[in-house]
Amino acid sequence: MAFLGDYHTHTVYSHGKGLIEHNVLFAVRRALKEVAIADHGFSHMAFGVKRRKLPQMRREIELLEIKYPQVRVYLGVEANIISRKGKTDVKSEDKPKLDITVCGYHKFVAGMSPAFAWSNNLGFSGAKTVARNTEAYVNAIERNEIDILSHPGNFCKCDVREVARACKHFGTYFELNGKRIFLSDDELAAAAQEGCEFICNSDAHTPKAVGMFAVPLERIERVGIPFSQIANYDRLPSFRSSTRKEGGKEK
Ligand SMILES: [Zn+2]
Ligand SMILES: [Zn+2]
Repeated sequence: MAFLGDYHTHTVYSHGKGLIEHNVLFAVRRALKEVAIADHGFSHMAFGVKRRKLPQMRREIELLEIKYPQVRVYLGVEANIISRKGKTDVKSEDKPKLDITVCGYHKFVAGMSPAFAWSNNLGFSGAKTVARNTEAYVNAIERNEIDILSHPGNFCKCDVREVARACKHFGTYFELNGKRIFLSDDELAAAAQEGCEFICNSDAHTPKAVGMFAVPLERIERVGIPFSQIANYDRLPSFRSSTRKEGGKEK
């Protein structure tokens, strides 16, 4: 019984501490079968990965997959939701360069619609803000091929049940983040009741944090989320975008 993959890890290409190879090495050390490099999205003002770096990252990954054949390495990005309409900072021309898209709400992102940014920057959690955020999440999941919704609710209060329902409907994994989970036990229980599938990710910013899942594990056990609903526990996830790319069966 074990976690088999970690699909949200950062490197020096955004503001992580390690090289891609270091994350891969720790994935090997933790006996993971898969690891994704998902650096901060292009419009993040402080840490965004540069589009022009993607080919270099891809080349590194290709060489690492030869050097460490025991682990599959995905090139992803942790995209940013930038508006209530669900716009993100991944452009259509970026998609062929990426294996998976992780996406979430972050502060300090260029091009963000002002009401959406400020209500969250100021920490509002009133009905208007929650409705706006929920709509942003649901629209983002519907309009973009988001494989994993990263840390739902972090600095972005939302109706978790409704977001989980959208995740289930569109085949987006609901992340249980390895650094911090802002949702209450009741909110997580509601998400589980909606039948969405969860994925545990480290959100590692240092290589040694790759494959560390103590935070999600504690919540899974306390809330009583069935392990059968955890997509990377004792099985490998099937990503919404790759299912389509490979012409495989729709989930
Ligand atoms: Zn994040
Ligand atoms: Zn992250």
